[in-house]
Amino acid sequence: MCGIVGFTGNRQAAPILLDGLSKLEYRGYDSAGLAVRDGDALAQVVKAKGRLSNLVEKTDNGNALKGTCGIGHTRWATHGEPTVANAHPHVSSDQRFALVHNGVIENFEELKEQFLSGAHLIGDTDTEIVVQLIAHFAENGFSTKDAFKAALAEIKGSYAFALMDKMDPNTIYVAKNKSPLLIGLGEGFNVICSDAM
Ligand code: GLU
Repeated sequence: MCGIVGFTGNRQAAPILLDGLSKLEYRGYDSAGLAVRDGDALAQVVKAKGRLSNLVEKTDNGNALKGTCGIGHTRWATHGEPTVANAHPHVSSDQRFALVHNGVIENFEELKEQFLSGAHLIGDTDTEIVVQLIAHFAENGFSTKDAFKAALAEIKGSYAFALMDKMDPNTIYVAKNKSPLLIGLGEGFNVICSDAM
């Protein structure tokens, strides 16, 4: 098991995401990463292999990442070695979408063949196929929500997903099937997390 945290609101996201990931450490993981948005700027993505403390160090306790909307992930590798390239978040080739995922996409090879024959992939994960698939549908004129839904309709497997879109700076899109994901509604902020801790 592993974990997802997301925050969108009126405070700096990165320190909150790191704190959330530390509460999910008990679930086990081999690498960790964050994507944080600052207004219209592209998401900044930082990933580290091994302990969460490596990510904390790499981001100066989160202070190096500015922005009030972000997603964080601890990975337990199922497809691809536990490397920085395979750590989440995964970003689409056009840099528009950033995605974290807990679970397993059983038909990712088929999806790759069917929809993404020309895509340049950076790592070996099943998850990267999904972010490219969402970008593929968006390129074909779908809204973000419809592109996400179209990708979900093709996927077989278990998932909790959190997705950020460059065109929609303060929104985190989520979906789940079998893997856990909770939504917390606060005053001035909303959060998502793999468990109630
Ligand atoms: N199957 C994905 C991967 O290997 C997600 C693993 C997880 O749940 O952390 O990257």
